[in-house]
Amino acid sequence: MKIGFIGLGNMGGPMAANLVKAGHAVTGFDLTAPMPEGVSKAETAAEAAVGAEVVITMLPNGAILRSVAAEVIPAMSAGAVLCDCSTVDVDSARAVAGEAQAAGLGALDAPVSGGVGGATNGTLTFMAGGADADFAKVKPLFDIMGQKAVHCGASGAGQAAKICNNMILGVTMIATCEAFALADKLGLDRQKMFDVVSTSSGYSWTMNAYCPAPGVGPTSPADNGYKPGFAAELMLKDLNLSQQAAVSADADTPMGQLAAELYRRFVEDEAGRGMDFSAMLPRFEKRGRA
Ligand code: NAD
Repeated sequence: MKIGFIGLGNMGGPMAANLVKAGHAVTGFDLTAPMPEGVSKAETAAEAAVGAEVVITMLPNGAILRSVAAEVIPAMSAGAVLCDCSTVDVDSARAVAGEAQAAGLGALDAPVSGGVGGATNGTLTFMAGGADADFAKVKPLFDIMGQKAVHCGASGAGQAAKICNNMILGVTMIATCEAFALADKLGLDRQKMFDVVSTSSGYSWTMNAYCPAPGVGPTSPADNGYKPGFAAELMLKDLNLSQQAAVSADADTPMGQLAAELYRRFVEDEAGRGMDFSAMLPRFEKRGRA
């Protein structure tokens, strides 16, 4: 298949490389990132989109997605599908899909989970919003870049699934970290805490699979000086998107709101930038109640 790929950074680069390895003809465009081996370089985003059956975008945010979409939609062939895999706000995802559909194109929002490791190993999970036919057309590409693709519903449903999942993740990580910090102050050994909670009703992905305490549970960024992993600023981005969506949909999300505020403080005021999002544990460790 002829594919246009716009945004070849930490995630997009290895995703495009996997499409090339599987035998697809990929033309890429990025403002700064180098082209992975086998990806033909276009001089503009529109040039990457010309003649492509599927155009994939993997960009930093909704504003950039909207501007790239405005450039590529007029260049795309009738019937082609614009598939955005970035994490962006639901409103931008729906607006871009609407513009693509108005131009006679298919459109999917298909954000991912699995991080750079998943992008490199082709083990991402895709959560997609859009029409059945568009999902069916892009599914073989999801199968190359990932291990699972869930069709979540109409346009925006993929982004909705992504931010709801990551709101749970942010809240749960904070709860796990504050519980470890409390356990420390109560004199409870961290390994014992893990042994109990990981098989009791407090278990979670953050405790069982990504334990924020160094030397406890499976290997995680905590065992590597809290080097990301999943950076605190990306967690903040996703929590902010969840709160933007909550305001837009008039949903009451007090825990998500507080998690966003705690990660904002951590990233902007407390040297959390560049740390894994599980570095909330050393943050809580150092603090008292005041
Ligand atoms: P990145 O910053 O490494 O890559 C983004 C790329 O987009 C950069 O190479 C940049 O040069 C390019 N770009 C920016 N504006 C452009 C434009 N106008 N035209 C063409 N290229 C442009 O970011 P990333 O880590 O690859 O993340 C991409 C998206 O995936 C984000 O929305 C992020 O939230 C999401 N995501 C990231 C991870 C992760 O672990 N890194 C996990 C899941 C989802």
